[in-house]
Amino acid sequence: LPLWNFLQKRLEYRVEKRQDPMTESIRNIGIIAHIDAGKTSTSERFLYYSGKTHKLGEVDSGNTVMDYLDEERQRGITIVSASASFEWKLGERSHLVHLIDTPGHIDFTAEVERCLRVIDGAVVIFSGVEGVEAQSEKVWRQSEKYSLPKIAFINKLDRFGASFKRTLEQMKRKFPAKRVVPLQIPVGEEDSLSGVLDLVGLRTLRFAGDDGSAVVAEPVAAGDGPAGIWRDEMVSSLSDFSDPISEEFISSGSVSEDLLRREIRRLVIEGKIVPVLCGSAKRNIGIQPLLDAVLLYLPGPSERGGFHAFNPKTNEEMECSVADPEFRGLVFKIIASSSGDLLYMRTYSGKIKAGDTLLNPRTGEKVRGKRLLRLYARNVEQVEEAGPGDIIGVVGPSNTSTGDTLCSLHKPVSLERIVFPEPVISMAVEARSSKDKDRLEFALQTLCREDPTLFWKKSEATGQMILSGMGELHLEVSAHKLRDEFHMDFRSGEPQVAYRETLLEPCEVDGVFDRVIGENRFYAAVRVGFEPVMRLEEGIESSNAMRNAQAIPSSWTRSAEENLMNGLKTGGNWGYPLVYVRAKLLDISGNESTNDAAVAGATLDAVAKAVKTGTRILEPIVKLEITSPEQNIGDINGFLQAKRAVILGMESLPEVKRLVCEVPLSEMFGFSKSLPKLSGGRASFTMEPCGYQEVSLEVLEKKAGM
Ligand code: GDP
Repeated sequence: LPLWNFLQKRLEYRVEKRQDPMTESIRNIGIIAHIDAGKTSTSERFLYYSGKTHKLGEVDSGNTVMDYLDEERQRGITIVSASASFEWKLGERSHLVHLIDTPGHIDFTAEVERCLRVIDGAVVIFSGVEGVEAQSEKVWRQSEKYSLPKIAFINKLDRFGASFKRTLEQMKRKFPAKRVVPLQIPVGEEDSLSGVLDLVGLRTLRFAGDDGSAVVAEPVAAGDGPAGIWRDEMVSSLSDFSDPISEEFISSGSVSEDLLRREIRRLVIEGKIVPVLCGSAKRNIGIQPLLDAVLLYLPGPSERGGFHAFNPKTNEEMECSVADPEFRGLVFKIIASSSGDLLYMRTYSGKIKAGDTLLNPRTGEKVRGKRLLRLYARNVEQVEEAGPGDIIGVVGPSNTSTGDTLCSLHKPVSLERIVFPEPVISMAVEARSSKDKDRLEFALQTLCREDPTLFWKKSEATGQMILSGMGELHLEVSAHKLRDEFHMDFRSGEPQVAYRETLLEPCEVDGVFDRVIGENRFYAAVRVGFEPVMRLEEGIESSNAMRNAQAIPSSWTRSAEENLMNGLKTGGNWGYPLVYVRAKLLDISGNESTNDAAVAGATLDAVAKAVKTGTRILEPIVKLEITSPEQNIGDINGFLQAKRAVILGMESLPEVKRLVCEVPLSEMFGFSKSLPKLSGGRASFTMEPCGYQEVSLEVLEKKAGM
């Protein structure tokens, strides 16, 4: 198997045999941070102290394991950045930690969400200088959607201008829904930072040696000093949620380390508190205690409770449990190659063995996982079996995409709702030489399989290949990958937004199919109601009468529903797919000459008739959030007004303003270059597709340069 050979060669494959981890001793974590807060530096040190790398990488000298990808620019090396596993011991007990890479760029919302789904807890890193920045705030909120237990780390406390207290105050202000509880305070700050004071264990921790690997602990007395004041505050904060802590405090005037740890763990997992630790990744201060805290306070897979899954046929939600015997796993990342794919899978319940045949409910296909791998920073280990809550690499299944579920054959469930995001922007790509055409096609195919928000097709009109995605940056990054990872030489056109159409008015139509094909005559008629609706109401359904009608075979109904969906996608009067439409199947009539194909034909006829009643063109809009120093916000606002933006709100934060608006995507091309000019490089923005709005023909003509 060439992929396997490749892995062995590139990753210095080494058999690392150890006992299979118990579900309780697994931690699946992700690091959430604003760019530059120190995510890479911290991850590096996790791997280093756990013995998985033998040299401490320095971000600035460009030799970190996590950034290996950039350095090597070779396909396959993403292995390292997708997930790295390592062991960490708490006392004598060894734990297996899977560190999952969270995408650095917030523009890839779907990827962020998928990552938040597969982890059981997060370490949120804040810079002690810049404090809580927009991006971390946003991901924090996203993580709340998944009730993700978190611990926070205030980094960079060695830097000039850093303040533990100020950052803590900001966190309290910005995250009022959670009790933020410091478990450590820094010893010294800025230049004089020399260690951390552990308030739970009442000791100072210093990190000796060139690499900070020797942790030197020294007990401190609580007393009246800062240690006493902060500890009292911590105990009082915790006792608001914990009767055992307040009882012990009342009866004995102090609380034992043991009880504190147990209760902190419970409260973190219940989502009541977020403990705060601190240090400096660059100066190797506070990293080992942070790792201890991951084991101590973040949950193992079985402590997260049940998980949501969906019936793959009906999309109906169902509750599943880690204890269920059926195997279920979610593919959260794939590395595709011509010789086979490597899938990163989070297992949720049941066991998977090498060689097992599983079902992919999205495609309905059976697939075989030939090999199971554990993926360390640079090594891979082959394993025969993996239980629930684990992260493993699977080699073998083909035709699998990021976001797919693989499950036991006899009980199909889907872990993600099967929805396909609509691309909002596209661009033409064309190989520079005709001999590269096939290679480009293959590269596009591979890229799209790895990224479920990216699509490609061949334009029937021009024969060009069209790549579509979620935004300008998304296409830019994908084009980059084509060049750097697939070594493709190609030309690309200007990005174009993807227009849509919707119906002008509700209508009820009859679609008919009545044709002689060969010797036979085929007949079917359908009655369908169409209605332009708001985004959340769109969809295809059958009326109750239809569902209860005994005389109508279910395969007719299925064919009609499928073809309603396909018909709407094929496009309206201007050739753009129809959205914001609800179609209700009211009746199907037929006779002995009716079959599924005739029903399909009648349905498509109904769609065509509905389209003839009139459609309007819609353009994609995005939600834009800009954080900028106060003095530049006027200029930015003026710029946006000229871009047809609708301002939704303006918020004053310390020293900066945040502006939220909706604006047509077509007006946002080149915005990442305009914003620095408007703000002297001091503003930042996030942008995500948020739907469609009507666009006037006048605007369309102007855009088309007519
Ligand atoms: P990321 O973008 O979140 O992955 O952040 P990096 O780990 O790449 O760090 C960004 C920059 O901050 C690099 O130049 C690091 O050397 C520096 N850095 C990271 N942690 C610290 C720290 O604790 N103290 C100081 N002074 N610099 C740090």
